[in-house]
Amino acid sequence: MTKTNLKGLPLQQLEAFVASIGEPKYRGKQIFTWLYKHRAASFDAMTSLSQSLRDRLNNEASIGHLGLVTKQSSASDSTIKFLFALPDGLRIESVLIPPRKESVDAEKRLTLCISTQVGCPLDCRFCATATMGFARNLTAGEILDQVLAVQSISERPITNIVYMGMGEPMLNYDNVMTSVDILSSEIGMGISPRRITISTAGYAHHIRRMADEGRKPKLALSLHSLNNETRTSLMPITKKFPVEELMDALEYYCHKTRKNVMFEYILFEGINDGDDDVRKIIKASKRFPCRVNLIPFHSIEFTHPHGFSASLKGASPERIARFSKKLRDADIPVFVRNSAGEDIDAACGQLAVNNEAAQPAHELSVIL
Ligand code: SF4
Repeated sequence: MTKTNLKGLPLQQLEAFVASIGEPKYRGKQIFTWLYKHRAASFDAMTSLSQSLRDRLNNEASIGHLGLVTKQSSASDSTIKFLFALPDGLRIESVLIPPRKESVDAEKRLTLCISTQVGCPLDCRFCATATMGFARNLTAGEILDQVLAVQSISERPITNIVYMGMGEPMLNYDNVMTSVDILSSEIGMGISPRRITISTAGYAHHIRRMADEGRKPKLALSLHSLNNETRTSLMPITKKFPVEELMDALEYYCHKTRKNVMFEYILFEGINDGDDDVRKIIKASKRFPCRVNLIPFHSIEFTHPHGFSASLKGASPERIARFSKKLRDADIPVFVRNSAGEDIDAACGQLAVNNEAAQPAHELSVIL
């Protein structure tokens, strides 16, 4: 008999499962709390359930787990990169990111960047994940388990989650939103949705959908240019969703949700770091409230890029300072992100694993 994996089931489905085995509905809530609030790794650990129910769950259900394969710590900052094995042997990465020193809550903040797909079908020219190709979407349980697994070995509580690891979250919309609901549930992990950010390369209809559904997490757009030609050369998805369509969707989102949007912007020398690029961002900011996160470009030489990708160079610190000053002068909040984790290929755009060389999970020497 195939066992039902309870990790990642929304509360209603968990309640329906317990009802299907003849148990009262409230047992679903109890199991939910054990899984996510207490991070129980087995049914035997759920001591408020009767022994007979625990036996029944052991026979008819399972709790999926990721296997931690390696954990790499940066020598230059406190970034930690985790490599996880999925049940089918494929691998993904997650990154624990140190807070900015200047953050007011630096002492308390701990951010985990999580993956939503194995590889990515988009082909952003500056991104190592793109060189992996696409294998499959992660289940809601696999998305959540990155948080549960890292939290179980972290000395401090994880306070912020960013969906900015491998994959395009909007292409795995339902599983991503289920994981957000569980992460932010008060009887689950209890992480405020205001501390959860979903980043997209620009799926306009899903941006509108988030607004229509009243989704609470913050939204970030990997922007990198407001010029269609330039953006297409960096992010071919622009052919499908041109800049004008994206800006219309963001205006709709901001008006409907009364929230702002974060633009993620990697500055490339001579490509998107000019005065005209600044002017376009300022013009967009008149339509809806936005903040800009300027990200230093991280080399992806280790994945042997070629052609246009190989020619990309990060803008100099002087150009970054000039760009950020012009935005600030226009009253746009700007953050210049540190190069956290660059020495362990954990920085933005550097995540990539060789899944062809990955072994099936049962052959791995698993650390967790
Ligand atoms: S930047 Fe994001 S959307 Fe683009 S290829 Fe990389 S993982 Fe995919």
